[in-house]
Amino acid sequence: MSKRSVYVTQPYLPPLAEFLPYLEEIWSNKTLTNGGPMHQRLEAALCEHLGVEHIALFNNGTIALLTALQTMRITGEVITTPYSFVATAHSLLWNGIRPVFVDIDPQTLNIDPGKVEAAITPQTTAIMPVHCYGNPCAVEDLQGIADNYNLKIIYDAAHAFGVRDTGGSILRHGDLSVLSFHATKVFNTFEGGAIVCPDANTKKRVDQLKNFGFVDEVTVVAPGINGKMSEINAAFGLLQLQHMSRIVARRKEIDTYYREMLGGVKGVCLLGNGGADSANYSYFPILVGAQYSLSRDQLYEKLKCQGIYARRYFYPLISDFPMYRGMQSAQRGNLPVASAISDSVLCLPIYPALGDEDLQRIVRVIQEG
Ligand SMILES: *Cc1c(COP(=O)(O)O)cnc(C)c1O
Repeated sequence: MSKRSVYVTQPYLPPLAEFLPYLEEIWSNKTLTNGGPMHQRLEAALCEHLGVEHIALFNNGTIALLTALQTMRITGEVITTPYSFVATAHSLLWNGIRPVFVDIDPQTLNIDPGKVEAAITPQTTAIMPVHCYGNPCAVEDLQGIADNYNLKIIYDAAHAFGVRDTGGSILRHGDLSVLSFHATKVFNTFEGGAIVCPDANTKKRVDQLKNFGFVDEVTVVAPGINGKMSEINAAFGLLQLQHMSRIVARRKEIDTYYREMLGGVKGVCLLGNGGADSANYSYFPILVGAQYSLSRDQLYEKLKCQGIYARRYFYPLISDFPMYRGMQSAQRGNLPVASAISDSVLCLPIYPALGDEDLQRIVRVIQEG
């Protein structure tokens, strides 16, 4: 029996013919970047789609994180989660900021607000939480702490495209929210990212910083960076947006199927969506417990032998990488929940093109144990 390879995710690509008119438009107006018409249209379309008022597009999410920290003039120490993609903490180190890791909540896998206060020092200037897997952080609790201690909050919202809570977009919380449109994300522009800003003035500063600090042809007001999204990427984003409802609908079907089939498997724990009014089904994490017949890594290897490439997101913890592990807050004793989750998590394949046959195959392997 030949076995197709199945990956944890696969980018959604609309029919190529649908992209050609966009390319023809770029070829005819000859604007390739620098905030051209596609860029402007995508900003407007994303504001509408996400239900936010101000958004600044970027060439990727990591540069957007770096720029968000510069925008808010963050220095000193920033409290963050060890349970994320490494770019979260890297953006701090690149800005000369010291990350301080705080443990996560075992239900949401997001930073535990009850443990934040104890990590605040006179050097603390901000909190950088992550809406992990698109599950909303405890936004009200975090804002309360930030208000008490006069801290900024910059959300790494790379997983949270389109997620809403009862009051609207999850991206409205904190001082800034940063998105990634990398190929592996729910909504992609090949590479790309964005900063959601609370007001026009903040967006203006972000737009200056992402364009070398230029405000006009001869005036540079800050040591900015090149964070601009090109017209090709923006055009692809416009096209991708038209397919979003179908993309999310198929992801939801897969999520539902996994929940039905794996909910009763002994030793396999599923996670809730943290109270989001509209999840984006960007990931399907399971926790492989001691009750299961195999260890997490044995299951991971077994799936791999069958051509099913599940991923251990997030293992290792960011705090276990060499540039962080010497820090006091990075010690495993400080991060017991994150350490345990990181050692038991496995993210299963979920993407629009994943077919029923492959889904059944994945579920069967896990049920067999
Ligand atoms: C993908 C991701 C990033 C980085 O985004 P890029 O667009 O790949 O630079 C940052 N943080 C988290 C949590 C991510 O998942």
